[in-house]
Amino acid sequence: MNNIEKLVRKNVQTLVPYQSARRLGGTGNTWLNANEFPVPVLFNLLHQQMNRYPECQPRLMIERYAKYAHLDSNQILATRGADEAIELIMKTFCDPGKDLILFCPPTYGMYKVSAETIGINYITVPTVDNWKLNLTAIAKNLDNVKVIYICNPNNPTGNIVDLQDIYYLLDITYGRAIIVVDEAYIEFCIKANLVKLLKNYKHLIILRTLSKAFALAGLRCGFILADNKIINLLLKVITPYPIAIPVSDIATQALSQKNIILMHNNVKQLNKNKEWFTQQLRKCHCVEKVFLSESNYVLVRFKNSSKVFENLCDQGIILRDQNNNLGLSQCLRISIGTLKECEYVISALKDLSQESI
Ligand SMILES: *Cc1c(COP(=O)(O)O)cnc(C)c1O
Repeated sequence: MNNIEKLVRKNVQTLVPYQSARRLGGTGNTWLNANEFPVPVLFNLLHQQMNRYPECQPRLMIERYAKYAHLDSNQILATRGADEAIELIMKTFCDPGKDLILFCPPTYGMYKVSAETIGINYITVPTVDNWKLNLTAIAKNLDNVKVIYICNPNNPTGNIVDLQDIYYLLDITYGRAIIVVDEAYIEFCIKANLVKLLKNYKHLIILRTLSKAFALAGLRCGFILADNKIINLLLKVITPYPIAIPVSDIATQALSQKNIILMHNNVKQLNKNKEWFTQQLRKCHCVEKVFLSESNYVLVRFKNSSKVFENLCDQGIILRDQNNNLGLSQCLRISIGTLKECEYVISALKDLSQESI
């Protein structure tokens, strides 16, 4: 007995890790459970020398992202994916055991898991009808809250948060808390981005990633957009070398003007596929409701979601079960794949519908 179990922190002992799509695994050929872009964009490594440590914040990559986001370079911080950003903000602003973070389920799972991992308590304020923020309840529960995480568009529901509600949140938290808006999917509804608010709201942080619309989930590269004061605070806490040389090499290429246009075209095509897919889903008998999505996935309520999940799984189609997310019983989340993949799912669901479930 070497007592390792006893040495581990209490909150790690009880921690339920994030059930990432890759950890959940499965076997199949149609992967629609992680909101990845369905087709790869190919790059070559240009920087072959790696005997030296990388720049903490690779200059050209940061400049290109700043240009893409219409901000100054000093308002950008690169992270190892948006997931690292979520945790970095907690580490910077929250005292473990004292300060709280707040989020509004059903939403992305990592806000909770990150808080639990580093021992920060959280408070949840569930959304109300059609996933609207419960502003009254949020306003009443701000004691000790340092950071509020808002996912926009929201994963897994796909809706956009009302701009008026964001303004209200920014007003009631002024001088007392940070508002983090997670824009991981913003390229699929680019008009909803909140970058223009950064000028007047110095306690706003926006999260971005190359994992979704840029088709680079395997690269692990994200960005924090905020006032330079916040960026400098986060820079004190971030690891010394978060961005490996191959990462900035490829990210810099992905952020060239040519590749940004390519990304926008890919997004247009995906949004078209989503429209077709949504219409077809509505015609399936096994489907109860398809929620409108501004993102690259749709949330679907089925009459019998476990039967659909298992049956499609048997055909190699991997979806994301949402039954454990608040208010999402009988719901599955389906990433928008290629048109061919969308057609494959619809034909599988039609077969199922004939079995009358
Ligand atoms: C995918 C996702 C992330 C994580 O992005 P990475 O950059 O791959 O870490 C963050 N937030 C939301 C809402 C996501 O869906």
